[in-house]
Amino acid sequence: MREKTVLLQGAMEEECACFLKHMKEPEETVIDGWHFWSGELCGRPVVVARTFIGMVNAAVSTVLGIRHFSPGAIINQGIAGAHGLDLEIGDIVLGTRVMNGASFQSEKLDRGQGSRWEGWKPLPLEIRGEMTRDNTFLSDPGLIAAARKAAASGSFRVVEGCISSADMWNREYDRIAFSHAAYGTMAEEMEGAAVCQVAAGYKIPVLSVRAISNNERKDGAYAPETADICARFVMAVLAEYGRI
Ligand code: SAH
Repeated sequence: MREKTVLLQGAMEEECACFLKHMKEPEETVIDGWHFWSGELCGRPVVVARTFIGMVNAAVSTVLGIRHFSPGAIINQGIAGAHGLDLEIGDIVLGTRVMNGASFQSEKLDRGQGSRWEGWKPLPLEIRGEMTRDNTFLSDPGLIAAARKAAASGSFRVVEGCISSADMWNREYDRIAFSHAAYGTMAEEMEGAAVCQVAAGYKIPVLSVRAISNNERKDGAYAPETADICARFVMAVLAEYGRI
């Protein structure tokens, strides 16, 4: 039996580049404007997908990728902003949990009471007519186990935690610190939770992993070249991941 493909996703060119450099003659397929490259990486079949930025783009790319390439696993990866105060540029956040950072219901406040995000309650999401328990998804235990082995090599600084996704880039210290304290979010990005929601509908194992490219609780400097660190960590995960 042929081994199943792993779908490797990056929203931006720099989040796909490192994989493509390491693949021998990747074959490009463009489906309705979304780009996919098939080939071999770390001795296994992969498809690299450029999802484009944001939740809707990531969801569409994931559906197209699943329908056309029938992957056995999905890894959503790239760069992210830190929520943990101590996180440095280039640190890896292994998203054991992924939260839709925009799926909340506010409390009812009257005119003049403003907005109070401390009172927002997680709002479940709908997958094929079934509501989830809350606004979070879990990364697959098998993929997490492979990622922990990759982390054990000591070549990367890796922390585990929740990654928050939304079509937002938060730059407010207090709001970020609250999310970190209240929900355990270690990082934020703009695609992972959408991918997890689609993958859950198709019952495909998924992993979310990111490299920190900015920490808005510090100076907020943006270093998108950290995308390569994440891709190299993902290749180490692939090397550890069992046959599927
Ligand atoms: N290149 C753009 C920024 C892209 S949007 C620019 O010119 O500024 C940011 C992308 O990087 C998204 O795909 C998102 O997943 C990720 N990202 C990195 N840091 C982020 C942050 N602090 N908040 C939200 N998304 C972030």
